Amino acid sequence: MSSSLEHLVIIGSGPAGWSAATYAARAQLKPLVFEGAITEENRMAGTLPLGQLALTSEVENYAGFPAGNLGGFLDSALPTERRSMMAPHEGHGVTGPELMELMRQQAVNFGTRIITDDIVRVDFSKRPFVLEPVDGPPVHAKCVIVATGASANWLGLPSEERFKNRGVSACAVCDGALPRFRNKPIVVVGGGDSAVEEATYLSKFASTVHLVHRRDALRASKIMATRALENPKIKIHFNSALAEVLGDDTGGVTGVRLGSTAAGGQETTIEAAGVFLAIGHTPNTGFLNGQLELTPKKYIVWKQHFRTATSVEGVFAAGDVADDYYRQAISAAGTGCMSALDAERWLAEHGE
Ligand code: NAP
Repeated sequence: MSSSLEHLVIIGSGPAGWSAATYAARAQLKPLVFEGAITEENRMAGTLPLGQLALTSEVENYAGFPAGNLGGFLDSALPTERRSMMAPHEGHGVTGPELMELMRQQAVNFGTRIITDDIVRVDFSKRPFVLEPVDGPPVHAKCVIVATGASANWLGLPSEERFKNRGVSACAVCDGALPRFRNKPIVVVGGGDSAVEEATYLSKFASTVHLVHRRDALRASKIMATRALENPKIKIHFNSALAEVLGDDTGGVTGVRLGSTAAGGQETTIEAAGVFLAIGHTPNTGFLNGQLELTPKKYIVWKQHFRTATSVEGVFAAGDVADDYYRQAISAAGTGCMSALDAERWLAEHGE
């Protein structure tokens, strides 16, 4: 591909990116989306195309998708080659991967162009902006929407690193159904909605799910916490922290050593075939290399109230990369829409 001048480039392919692309394409802005690269590195970091939602199971709270049979619609809405890569629809509301494929297709239907690659460097110091993908020449853009989302955190224990891919994972939906975890005890670390959702999902495969949380109460929403508390296969270990993942080089994970976060608490060892981390997320802003103003937690700062404008004129941000508070698929899609409208108006004001 030769170097080109684009009206609008959208970086990222979660709900924010596709929603922005659909609005921008309908506004005749011919958006170009960099949806991310399909690499093992991105798989481990949770930054594959289609974002975090593609790593979840059922989505019960995205407006417009009540429980029902969506299967026929999925068959008719998606190209056969993409549909055939997905699990059959099972009659619930919608799954994360289904929702993301539908959003992607909706953007494509209005003329969005897609490149399956990462943007690894940007130059926002002058216009047109310069965006460098891994492969191919730099792309020049009049206007940019950053919608790169956030990815899962790790604890940073050496033993966690040692057993990544051999029993340690940060994505239950990607890895939970692997034979190594079937009818075996599994550990999930965290106390938020993600941890509870992963524990509930894993309880379908595991003999027992040990949910390890550092405090004495779950942070998860009431409805999800109640599900975990009432699930006979989930055992919650409050006031506990993962001290070490135990295992060997042949079989991978065999258990965990837990420390106590309560005064005078004891260390314990639990047998487990897997350890799933669900301890929050970090925004994917590293590639910006300090060119946009970030919060202390590295989220992009919106410079005006209820607008998606960043510290650089002509660069907008949408979704979890700029939101450490709501972090919902539907709020990401909402800010994606806002960013496309903001971009459209900004381009119009600048004679485009
Ligand atoms: P979160 O709400 O930030 O929860 C992270 C959990 O990990 C907290 O319980 C935290 O403990 C724990 N934690 C963080 N660092 C830790 C460390 N170093 N060691 C041990 N534990 C640690 O993150 P999340 O669960 O990923 O949820 C993110 C957002 O997505 C939330 O807004 C959530 O509502 C949303 N979400 C919604 C759904 C749904 O509605 N279906 C599903 C998943 C996520 P503390 O409690 O002590 O801080």
